[in-house]
Amino acid sequence: MNTIEKTDKYILNTYKRYPVTFEKGQGAFLYTEKGEKFLDMGSGIAVTLLGHCHPKLVDAVKSQTEKLWHTSNLYYSIPAADLAEKLVHACGAKRVFFCNSGAEANEGALKLARKYGKQSGKTNKTKIVSMHHSFHGRTMATITVTAQEKYQKPFSPLLPDVCYAEYNDLESIRNVMNDDVCAVILEPIQGEGGVHTANHEFLKEVRALCDKHDALLIYDEVQCGMGRTGYLFNHMKYPDCKPDIFTSAKGLAGGLPMGAFFVNEKAENILQPGDHASTFGGNPIAAAAANAVQDIIKEENILAAVKENGCYFIENLKKLQQKYNVIKDVRGEGFLIGLEIKYPAAELVQELLEHHIVTVPAGASVVRLLPPLIVKKEEIDSVIDALDHIFKKRT
Ligand SMILES: *Cc1c(COP(=O)(O)O)cnc(C)c1O
Repeated sequence: MNTIEKTDKYILNTYKRYPVTFEKGQGAFLYTEKGEKFLDMGSGIAVTLLGHCHPKLVDAVKSQTEKLWHTSNLYYSIPAADLAEKLVHACGAKRVFFCNSGAEANEGALKLARKYGKQSGKTNKTKIVSMHHSFHGRTMATITVTAQEKYQKPFSPLLPDVCYAEYNDLESIRNVMNDDVCAVILEPIQGEGGVHTANHEFLKEVRALCDKHDALLIYDEVQCGMGRTGYLFNHMKYPDCKPDIFTSAKGLAGGLPMGAFFVNEKAENILQPGDHASTFGGNPIAAAAANAVQDIIKEENILAAVKENGCYFIENLKKLQQKYNVIKDVRGEGFLIGLEIKYPAAELVQELLEHHIVTVPAGASVVRLLPPLIVKKEEIDSVIDALDHIFKKRT
């Protein structure tokens, strides 16, 4: 049996896969078993932010694999301590908790919020508010705050005491806020939900409402964080709307599984020994990779490149939009870009795959462009050319 046949026979059937098997990657390119070359505009859903097999990342992981793989959080760990110091300094949070995925990071943040509510002395301060069209992961708690019916319906009953507001709608958030709320969770840019950016007014109002009702504000930066929008974390562009907790994963360790949540002063002492844990959290190999990611982001001036090349990409997509009315909208920031079209997104993903370009859909009509942050202008140009070709054929 070949890889596709084995997968379809032995792995649980929870993914609709494209019929392609990548065997290796280098920089912004992926190579199939047959040696065909593809331009990676998906980064494994916003994960491999420095492209594939960045030499410094390979070295960091190699050298850690020859030293130590795992000891557990019963002992101190050099790579985890170094990483915590680097990240906390870079983002202005107070402390961090390491785990293994985005859902797990959000789960931990929600647990912290529930305990915060209990400690406040008020009864019933357990309500959590999240946004329609959000995406926060696939565990029971995180599908509850993921306000999309398709992810929730087969698995009810869900976590109690969660309610929803409309994203970017001041009235809607005002209506659900009261003293029973212990936390609001939202993505500064909704990724999975179709690439929608929270506007500054909305974030200011949410921040003010959380202060008024003594609720924690949680930003899910699993997708929009780690340099993807030209800021280490997207919320850093609005110093007046800081979160109390924010979560990270996806690109954090450049392709190895790692998640984290960060807390400020208000939230740093809520969880105490025994309250929360993760066997693999802060794993030395993942942490060594994440340390290297932070160093490379600085050394190679990655954030500035994302700002510049992200603008270049979006401008050129907007030029295409003027040429082809099949493009409904171009949205996003940096290298978190959504292209909304007037036909099914899955069809455009397939057409681009035929041009050897890998992209990721977001819902029914949006294709996400999530290149590795190291992508070059000429590679962006080749995507624009392919899209031009595809849309020309459609008109
Ligand atoms: C991908 C994603 C998650 C879930 O991360 P996993 O590592 O798959 O658990 C949560 N929130 C956002 C915004 C995401 O994009």
